[in-house]
Amino acid sequence: MASKYVYFFGGGKAEGKASMKESLGGKGANLAEMTNLGLPVPPGFTISAECCDLFSESGGKWPKGLDKEVEKNLKKLEKAMKRTFGGDKKPLLVSVRSGAAISMPGMMDTVLNLGLNEGSLQAMVEEAGDDRFAWDAYRRLVQMFGDVVMDVPKETFDHAMEGLKEEKGAALDTDLTTDDLKELVKRFKHVYEKHTGEGFPDDPREQLKKAIDAVFGSWNNKRAITYRKINKITGLKGTAVNVQAMVFGNMGAGSGTGVAFTRSPSNGENEFFGEYLMNAQGEDVVAGIRTPLPISTLEQEDPKSYKELMEIRGKLEEHYRDMQDVEFTIQQGTLYMLQTRTGKRTIFAALRAAVEMCEEGLITEEEAVARIPAGELPKLFSPVLDPAEKASAESSGRMIATGLPASPGGATGRVVFTADDAEAWAARGEKVILARTETSPEDVGGMAVAQAILTSRGGMTSHAAVVARGMGVPCVAGAGELLIDYGTKRMRVAGRTIAEGDAVSLDVFEGKVYAGDMNVQPSEIVQVQDGTIATEDSQLFEQYNKLMGWADGLRRLGVRANADTPRDASRAVKMGAEGIGLTRTEHMFFEGDRIVSFRKFILVADTVRALRAQIEDERDGEKRSALERKLADPLQRYNEALNELLPLQRGDFEGIFEVMDGKPVTIRTLDPPLHEFLPQEEKSQQEMAKALWVDVQEVKDVVEKLHELNPMLGLRGCRLGIIYPEVTAVQVRAIIEAAINVQQKGVKVEPEIMIPLVGKAEELKLQRELAEEVIDKVCKEKGVDKKSIDYKIGTMIEIPRAAVTADEVAEYAEFFSFGTNDLTQMGCGFSRDDAGKFLGEYKRVGVYDEDPFEVLDQGGVGKMVEMACRLGREARPGIKLGICGEHGGEPASVKFCHRVGLTYVSCSPYRVPVARLSAAQAVIEEKGAKPKAKGKAKRARGSAKKAAGSKARRKPSRKKKR
Ligand code: PEP
Ligand code: MG
Repeated sequence: MASKYVYFFGGGKAEGKASMKESLGGKGANLAEMTNLGLPVPPGFTISAECCDLFSESGGKWPKGLDKEVEKNLKKLEKAMKRTFGGDKKPLLVSVRSGAAISMPGMMDTVLNLGLNEGSLQAMVEEAGDDRFAWDAYRRLVQMFGDVVMDVPKETFDHAMEGLKEEKGAALDTDLTTDDLKELVKRFKHVYEKHTGEGFPDDPREQLKKAIDAVFGSWNNKRAITYRKINKITGLKGTAVNVQAMVFGNMGAGSGTGVAFTRSPSNGENEFFGEYLMNAQGEDVVAGIRTPLPISTLEQEDPKSYKELMEIRGKLEEHYRDMQDVEFTIQQGTLYMLQTRTGKRTIFAALRAAVEMCEEGLITEEEAVARIPAGELPKLFSPVLDPAEKASAESSGRMIATGLPASPGGATGRVVFTADDAEAWAARGEKVILARTETSPEDVGGMAVAQAILTSRGGMTSHAAVVARGMGVPCVAGAGELLIDYGTKRMRVAGRTIAEGDAVSLDVFEGKVYAGDMNVQPSEIVQVQDGTIATEDSQLFEQYNKLMGWADGLRRLGVRANADTPRDASRAVKMGAEGIGLTRTEHMFFEGDRIVSFRKFILVADTVRALRAQIEDERDGEKRSALERKLADPLQRYNEALNELLPLQRGDFEGIFEVMDGKPVTIRTLDPPLHEFLPQEEKSQQEMAKALWVDVQEVKDVVEKLHELNPMLGLRGCRLGIIYPEVTAVQVRAIIEAAINVQQKGVKVEPEIMIPLVGKAEELKLQRELAEEVIDKVCKEKGVDKKSIDYKIGTMIEIPRAAVTADEVAEYAEFFSFGTNDLTQMGCGFSRDDAGKFLGEYKRVGVYDEDPFEVLDQGGVGKMVEMACRLGREARPGIKLGICGEHGGEPASVKFCHRVGLTYVSCSPYRVPVARLSAAQAVIEEKGAKPKAKGKAKRARGSAKKAAGSKARRKPSRKKKR
């Protein structure tokens, strides 16, 4: 049987249907669907996307039989309209529009008023009783046809139009008279002929054929190809072509045209929301020449059409069970629906509409959950820059740089360039933005008091990004255009010099940096203040809670948070975290006196290590004794420092355990290389020397000694704990003592001791044995039964070697937590601090679709995760598996974690809702089945009346661990 290429719609019946979107395109499928629903759609026919494919493949030829099918459908259309295509009496005019299965707004072409020529034009003049209208339609056809179909430069028509307007003293197009329009048609035809070398076609069928060809051809125009590439639209055959009888909204006062949403796309309110213009054509509504009116006023202007429109609104929502975005035209009192599609909406509108539609019985809870773009949830919690001020800053050239949107929100403040200055200025009550080339653990104090953080280097998992996200402080990372000079406390960007104290503003949703200050609007439902969440008594917050409740009821994946302090932990719980998946203990070392004690330890650590090694190798008893005597003093300082740290860390852990109240808490032993805890600048080195009563040269020597070319692959993670076992010992002691103390207060505690950066099972074995020894000792000292503490010992899988030998590692691990930041760094071979330099290009040329530090590289790093899960389970059935890399809060990666059967994901507190929702969506996707409606929809619609409107580094590295 010959293929069917053309599908008719009209007279209450359509050959196509909604499920044929692939073939008929979104527009064609919806036109068919609306027709079948009995809505007043101007009849027409859709040529399938398969034809576009065949057309492209054959170098621009119509597939066999298409011409006959088009002719047959044209006849049908003439019959339905009781008109003749381009006829001298009762002429039928048609529009030709593109429409692919996925909407590509404005990328492909539309031609209106096909079928007009001097003969049909006269007939229209008579019929409409308005010759200006007919001549205006004709000039639009010549212009559109010339531009779209024959590639006549658009500006040449614009020049002709402007020239005539000037001659006639007409300010607006609408000031041109009929005679002027006749003259304009003449001039347009002249332009047409000059560029094409042929006269404007009079034959309506020739016009139609060429217009269809142009739509097919536009599938492969540069604009459309680029749009598909940017939006990752693949696998489509082409565009369908919709040929439809023209209706006119500009046929006098009783005609009009408009666009509307069945609910507010801005806040989701259940009100008809739209605009229209009487005596106008579609583009006039959006062109901004005349101000459109809110849809509510149509009730007075044309009550019949308004009533009909309101009924259609209800029918459409009931049928599509979602918010629709419609276009309509009223031709001399008769309403026509030209288009319906799913309405694009803000996250606020998405949330409200989904919850209300579910309560109205229109959709199920699952559908409501599935509809919310999880990645956008943080917008509900973040302050934003005043949109009007932002727009004006952009138009006045105050947008000075862009970077990665590392931690969301909007912020404004005075720029400072050091963490110390940030703290000093903040203490004086100033709002500051901390700008650094990159941040290090030393900067944490300043970062915590800043309104926002801005860096010129670093990616989505750089120190600044990770720490800012954890703190809930907005952060733009890697804004490469900034040239920061710490010496003069200035930065140069976009031809400007911004000095310390100058105001800057950041919109981190878009990663944009602006010069000058702006108003910051608080988040609509939740304000994050000093680590506490003050919920406003808002309807949206209630709706958010309801939806998250539905999501929690669906998901199987646990959701924890990465939190380093009791304050972060408390925020995480409020965001719905069911535990802590990662406490980076090193972050605590920068608070209060901890850093003094820790630096005291570092100052002698290397000497202790070297002496111990020498003693070990020394066979001569005397020499050995001499070395032991030499060791005594540094060792005493070493142990003293660690003993000072013990109560401080214990206190931190007690705080976290209390806040978490029985929920599991994973605490990681020390991970970063020691040099990160030392000051690199002369002034700070002097301060450190003073605080520790040592000579500044001693500090400088240690900084020099600890320097590594590749610190991320150097002495860090469990290697530190193996070389300096006392560090692990003191941390484990602090954890267990804290657990016992808190448990004695009647609070259940579930500590999980996590050993970082294990590459070989033996590393974990050593650290585990050490930890168990300490736990035994503490329990004995405290007279506590070891079994009464529900602790676990496990490891991070963040080195590829550990992933591929996970069966061996699992022998010593009760849990694995995938550290996908490092696993990506080492798996892909990209420095997490420097890869930002080229990942943009890599995305552009298509090496990677996404930044693998942001979205888990499922095809590579993900395979290692899968393998480690399998090997781990084989060796230890029931092993607890989680993830604590930044991917744990990214929707696609969370879904991956669900699919590979992890127990939980752990992410920054503000991303906990993202993870909860994504985990629920993963379950819905897994079910695959279309969720069923709760039953017959009962509508509780708002009143119609209310309607309204490494390379190895060669110089001292400052590469940071976070
Ligand atoms: C990781 O590597 O994924 C991780 C969570 O650890 P960090 O980011 O602290 O290296
Ligand atoms: Mg790591």
